[in-house]
Amino acid sequence: MTSDRVGHVWLVGGGPGDPAYVTLAGLDALRQAEVVLYDRLAPIELLDECPRDTLLIDAGKAVGRQALTQAQTNATIVEHALAGKRVVRLKGGDPFVFGRGGEEAEACANAGVPCTVISGITSAIGGLAAAGIPITHRGVAASFAVVTGHEDPSRSEEGVHWDKLATAVDTIVVLMGVGNLDRIVSQLVEAGRNPETPCAVVQAATRPEQRVVEAPLRAIAQVALDAHIEAPALFVIGDVVSVRSKIASSSRGSLAAKRVLITRTRAQASTLAESLRAEGARPILLPALEIQRRADPAAVAAAVTKLRAGGYQWAVFTSENAVQVFLDTLTEHEVDARAFAGVSVCAIGAATAAALLARGLRADLVAADASGDGMLDALLGAGAAGTSVLLPRAEGGRAVLPDGLRAAGATVDEVTLYLAAPPAEAPAGALALIRAGQIDAVTFTSSSTVRNLATLLGGDLSSLRSAVIACIGPQTAQAAEEAGLPPTVVASDASVHGLVDALRAHFASVED
Ligand code: SAH
Repeated sequence: MTSDRVGHVWLVGGGPGDPAYVTLAGLDALRQAEVVLYDRLAPIELLDECPRDTLLIDAGKAVGRQALTQAQTNATIVEHALAGKRVVRLKGGDPFVFGRGGEEAEACANAGVPCTVISGITSAIGGLAAAGIPITHRGVAASFAVVTGHEDPSRSEEGVHWDKLATAVDTIVVLMGVGNLDRIVSQLVEAGRNPETPCAVVQAATRPEQRVVEAPLRAIAQVALDAHIEAPALFVIGDVVSVRSKIASSSRGSLAAKRVLITRTRAQASTLAESLRAEGARPILLPALEIQRRADPAAVAAAVTKLRAGGYQWAVFTSENAVQVFLDTLTEHEVDARAFAGVSVCAIGAATAAALLARGLRADLVAADASGDGMLDALLGAGAAGTSVLLPRAEGGRAVLPDGLRAAGATVDEVTLYLAAPPAEAPAGALALIRAGQIDAVTFTSSSTVRNLATLLGGDLSSLRSAVIACIGPQTAQAAEEAGLPPTVVASDASVHGLVDALRAHFASVED
């Protein structure tokens, strides 16, 4: 199938494993991709940067668990590009370092398909750095070589001349060599490399599961075997390995390299994601709810008119989403914050108050206790009994608050604006990490995030049982308990910072 519009191919280097190592150009390509072919070593989290309808092709183990052959991969890339698609070929590390990116670029050229190469950080350099090993070091190593250690010579790019290499460069980095350490060591020693040369093997560099072993050249194969080191791993030979003890990062926080799932809406996720990242954690976004606008236009119009006419003494906001959706609704009615003149505004929780402030409204009352009874006590204490109250909220909100206000003689207009529902499908990268049991902690910021996550995962939360469950407050904790995920920690202050503090304290205590 060809098209009048020829597409474009980007060969993107995804870096060694930490998704944060991708370049801005690579991210840009992913965010516009219509088709992505990804490798086993590419950071799977990056797939969630693609638009929702992007076709994701696992080139590492496609149909029938058989990897696509290189010819099939080339053909698939070209075929989609000729059909007019924007195609990203996402690779681990750098596309041109044993990534067969050159062959894919050639295939594009032969088919007349435009192709852009976006370099990535190769594991040979960035992966070593993550283990605290500089590939060159003044006075220690002035040269390096990156070679393949693949045991099958027919699959090696070119035969490696181990005899010449052994003493020609200061640092040797062997990729794809972990199954072959014995043979590589004897070839190097035979060719004259000092058997006492410091060596290291770095498994899963930059990933949360990174492991490093060190030993002199003569012993490294046995040490790696005893430690059950597996691919992907880097084998590094050279005096730079001894620099590691001096510069290996010792200031890693207690959340360093922990994968933390964020379940709130995409729009709300960024503050939590940034706070976690600042602690060294790897936030994984899996928005368990989506705001679907659902309102009775007549009821909304009536409430807006009444608000403008000074018909309410109180406006009560029970969540950030209620703030955003109601203020958006006002904008759509060509009304601004002046409509609240003379109205007392109540926010449930500090985050809701902050959302109001960001839209130009300072809350007169912030109820710290988010339980139905707590909100009611705060409002009645502030004189809401017998007044007229506007309560914009989600469909299916609890009745404790409006019932209690009415019992105290208030008139309550509950204006239903939206439904917080689980999205139709979950992001592929996040799902794959959950299923592989690679999530260290889950954050829940409301009871609906708990319930909707369960729905999104088809009712099966078992792969999250070994994760730390962190809840923003007691209500959310109760919902988690009921869903079969007993909370490990509950924030003492119901805010994003409280949640991050609770997680940090938990992991710090586990490490001791
Ligand atoms: N293009 C890639 C290399 C592909 S060859 C790059 O530039 O990094 C695959 C080999 O790379 C693996 O066998 C392993 O030796 C190495 N490798 C890739 N990612 C790695 C990681 N995170 N940790 C350790 N080794 C890695």
